[in-house]
Amino acid sequence: MSNNSKHLKKPEWLRIKMQGGENLNHVQKTLDKFGLTTVCHEASCPNRMECFNKSTATFMILGSVCTRGCSFCDIATGPGQTVDMLEPKHIADAVKALKLKYVVVTSVTRDDLPDGGAFHFADVIREIQKASPTASIEVLIPDFKGNRDALNTVIDAKPIIINHNIETVPRLYKAVRPQAKYEQSLELLRRVKETTDEIYTKSGMMVGLGETREEVLQSLRDLRDVECDFLTIGQYLAPTKDHHPVIEYVHPDVFEIYRKAAIKMGFKDAACGPLVRSSYKAHEMLETK
Ligand code: SF4
Repeated sequence: MSNNSKHLKKPEWLRIKMQGGENLNHVQKTLDKFGLTTVCHEASCPNRMECFNKSTATFMILGSVCTRGCSFCDIATGPGQTVDMLEPKHIADAVKALKLKYVVVTSVTRDDLPDGGAFHFADVIREIQKASPTASIEVLIPDFKGNRDALNTVIDAKPIIINHNIETVPRLYKAVRPQAKYEQSLELLRRVKETTDEIYTKSGMMVGLGETREEVLQSLRDLRDVECDFLTIGQYLAPTKDHHPVIEYVHPDVFEIYRKAAIKMGFKDAACGPLVRSSYKAHEMLETK
C-alpha cells in the first residue's frame, strides 16, 4: 500500500497545541497507581485534557495486545495477554478515586478467548456500578465474532450505552479492518436494540481513508436502519507511515454536513469533527437525549 499521506500537508484545523496541566498529571498518577491503561494515554488523544477536566476517561481492558491487526490502528498485534482478574476492581477503585461521572470501557479484540472477553466487560461494569452507583458507563466493545451469548453477557450487566464502531464504509473493510465484517457489526447493534430498550447504542467512523461522501451517508442510513442512537465521525490520522495512508484531510464543513444529515436521519446526537474520537463529548451526548 503506497503511503501518500506524507505528501498531504496537515491542514491548520488539525494543528492543535496539546494541553497539559495539573489535572492531567493527577489523573495519570491515579491510573499508574492502579496499574491501569487508558485509550486516552495510549493513543495520545488530543482531547484528553478536555475529557479529564470533565471527569471522563476511557479505560482499556484485556491487555494491550490485540489478536487482530487493523491497518489504521496503533495497538500492538499478537497473542492475547493473560487476563488480569483484578482489573475490574482496580478500575472501580480508580473511577471512585477520580470521581469520574462518565466512564468508557473499551478493549483490544480477544478472538483467543471463548467469549471474546465479554465476561470481563461484565465484571468491570458491575464493579463500577457497586463502587460508583451514579457513574454512567459506556462500553466500546469488539464484535465478539458475532457471538450472541457474549453480547448478552454485556447487555445483562446493563451499561447505559453499548458502542461498537463500524469504523469505515463496507468497500474499505478489506484494506482497513480485514478481520471484521460490516454486516456483523451492524447486526451486533441491531441485536442490542432487539434485546432491550434500556440501553442506547452508538457507533463511530473515521473519514479520510478514501471513502466517498455518498458512502458515508449510506453507512449513516445503515446505522439508523438498526436504530443506532448516537454517532461519532472523526478524521483518520495515520499513527505511522506503515499504517493505512491518509487519503484526504476532510474539511470541517463536510463534517458539519454529516452531522446535520445524521440528526435529520434521526440520531439522538452526533459528534462530527476532525478531532472527534469515539468517546469525545460522550457525557454531553447522553444529556441531549
Ligand atoms: S480490533 Fe481494535 S484494537 Fe485490534 S487492531 Fe483493530 S482497531 Fe486496533
